[in-house]
Amino acid sequence: MLTIETKVEEIPRIGTAYQKKLKKLGIKTVQDLLCYFPARYNDFSNIVEINKLKNGYSACVQGKIIEIGTTRTFKKWVDITEATIEDDTGSIKALWFNQPYIDKSLKEDDFVCLAGKVSLGKGGLYLNNPAYEKINEVTDNHSLTHTGRIVPVYSETRGVTSRWLRYIIKPLLANFYNKVPEILPEEILKKHKFLPIQKALWQAHFPDSFEYADAAKARFAFENLFLLQLSILKERAKLMQKTAPACPMDAKLMREFTKSLPFQLTDSQKQCSYQILKDLEKPAPMSRLLEGDVGSGKTVVATMAALSAVKNGHQVAFMAPTEILASQHFKGISKMLEKFDVAIGYLSGKESFRYKAGKIEEVKKKDLLLDLEFGQIPMVIGTHSLIQKTVKFSKLALVIVDEQHRFGVAQRAELTKNSRLVPHLLSMTATPIPRTLALTVYGDLDLSLIKEMPKDRKKTKTVIVDPSERKTAYDFIRKEVKEGKGVFVICPKIESGSLKLEAGMTTGSFVPQNYSLISGNETKSVTQEYEKLSKEIFPDLRITMMHGKMKPKEKERIMLDFKKGEIDVLVSTSVVEVGVDVPRATVMMIEGAERFGLAQLHQFRGRVGRSDMQSYCFLFTTDPSQLNRKRLKALVDSHNGFELAQKDLEIRGPGQLYGSQQWGIPDVAMEGILNIFLVEKTRAAAKEMLEKDPELKNHLLLKERVKHFEKKIHFE
Ligand code: ADP
Ligand code: MG
Repeated sequence: MLTIETKVEEIPRIGTAYQKKLKKLGIKTVQDLLCYFPARYNDFSNIVEINKLKNGYSACVQGKIIEIGTTRTFKKWVDITEATIEDDTGSIKALWFNQPYIDKSLKEDDFVCLAGKVSLGKGGLYLNNPAYEKINEVTDNHSLTHTGRIVPVYSETRGVTSRWLRYIIKPLLANFYNKVPEILPEEILKKHKFLPIQKALWQAHFPDSFEYADAAKARFAFENLFLLQLSILKERAKLMQKTAPACPMDAKLMREFTKSLPFQLTDSQKQCSYQILKDLEKPAPMSRLLEGDVGSGKTVVATMAALSAVKNGHQVAFMAPTEILASQHFKGISKMLEKFDVAIGYLSGKESFRYKAGKIEEVKKKDLLLDLEFGQIPMVIGTHSLIQKTVKFSKLALVIVDEQHRFGVAQRAELTKNSRLVPHLLSMTATPIPRTLALTVYGDLDLSLIKEMPKDRKKTKTVIVDPSERKTAYDFIRKEVKEGKGVFVICPKIESGSLKLEAGMTTGSFVPQNYSLISGNETKSVTQEYEKLSKEIFPDLRITMMHGKMKPKEKERIMLDFKKGEIDVLVSTSVVEVGVDVPRATVMMIEGAERFGLAQLHQFRGRVGRSDMQSYCFLFTTDPSQLNRKRLKALVDSHNGFELAQKDLEIRGPGQLYGSQQWGIPDVAMEGILNIFLVEKTRAAAKEMLEKDPELKNHLLLKERVKHFEKKIHFE
């Protein structure tokens, strides 16, 4: 007996080939199939009389087959199946290309319904590759599946056609639509006038009208976001029940710290650090996202939080995504805390150091780990190595993560395995997060926003450079270098000829991993460009190259030399993308700009303009397409990360937005996520429900579904 939980393998009409294809789409059960919703619909609901057809119509006709046969054109080896059908008003031809099986399934005297485009050929009007199905002479449209109605069109991936899905889903719907349980509570259904589940399922797949299709979609979008909100808010409530080490703020100490800085904090920095320091005072674990555009000065804010925790006798772990960044933070923060007597450890996969009393020295990893475990060292900065099993803390109070996007509950637990206390979490990002995402995917985090840049900053002048002006750009670069300034040249790949792009190329932006593979053919490589620049263009300048295949030590030495002014031009891959701080650099030249997402380009640009000097960003591109022009123009016009993220969304569409694929959020929910009203509605509904029933004890079915949903999404 089939049930809604029956596995795809046990559904009689689905053979092994299709089982595999469905699995790849994440469809495992009957219920999954019923919840695989169409991407759009074709309106074939109007049956037109044959003598009313006109060229260009998208139309549906019903009639009897007078004649059908297949011929093969010998020149092109195309099978053409040709049928003539007739109704009371006239007759018309239908042509199918390379579908000879149609000839077998349709015969003379069959009644059929055909839906498709009317075209004009040598022999007059004909239906071009129409959808077809056999009907009885008297048929009501409800029994039709592929024609004669509003027909569902599914996103056809991995060899699963809409026709096949309709053929499978419709009988399943007929058998099971009333067996799928309603999980939305009565009050919610009433309040929002949602279709009940049974009706919604039918109307989502085989709607009676477009209004019904929309109503069904609205219901499922709500349902999915509601599950997401329940899951996030429940986790958060659970976390808030745990205890974190309270770190009372020492206002005097904080004033002393800010006075010791070579600059004044911006108002935003002050507000954000106050919010964070106040959170740290509470015994409930903080979960906060500190968001601020590149160069807005997040590090100093995080350092204040760290100082507060340390001076309360606790430990702090600071995690960065790459070794370059971790070591830069290690040095920068050591310096900032110089006068405050804080020992700091550094730990990456390969190296470990300790900073104490103004000196950095290499230490054995084993010793550093012991110091951390026994609380001998209050702060450690490092890469992902910090969440390895061997790293233990004695009294961890604060975890700071830079540019990780998601640092999940599980990872936080990993850091505190031998403690009943949960540390506070401060996550930092330069990625602009629209409000809708802040309330959904990041819905478990409180937000602190650095809205302004330090006052001395000038906008980086951004120019799309025409190939004919390359020389002018080079002359300009020479002039800057002669004034003692630093120049970045970014290339999309490491070696010429290889298709290998820099690993982790898209860290720090929401661009899908393979985005950069889409366009362009002649991609500049770092090695090639380095040769050219150092031999032909700037033989008199000090040029160095850097890429992800180099040893961390090597990269670090290069960055340091560049920072100190011992290198004029640094030719690099995207390894310089996130957070690298070289105030003396004033030119960012990007080759193959079409290969990078807007958010990523904005990140690159953020590598310059980090002092009071005027900086420049030169964009070179070989892709003349309108789309690319539009994207790069957006970068020229806007210096606001939020605006650029919005533009990226408009230009590229929501489909591949924000790594929805990576997160496993269903499409219907992803579309919903872009709708702030819906997001707010679902959040309010979820909050209300959890206030009354925090454990969902009175909504067991819902609880079950939330769990199921959590398994599908993976934010961490
Ligand atoms: P991000 O937010 O991108 O991580 P950083 O924290 O690396 O930015 O800061 C960028 C640079 O700006 C650093 O050199 C830092 O010392 C400097 N900086 C931070 N805050 C200020 C400020 N209020 N005024 C001037 N410079 C600042
Ligand atoms: Mg940073």
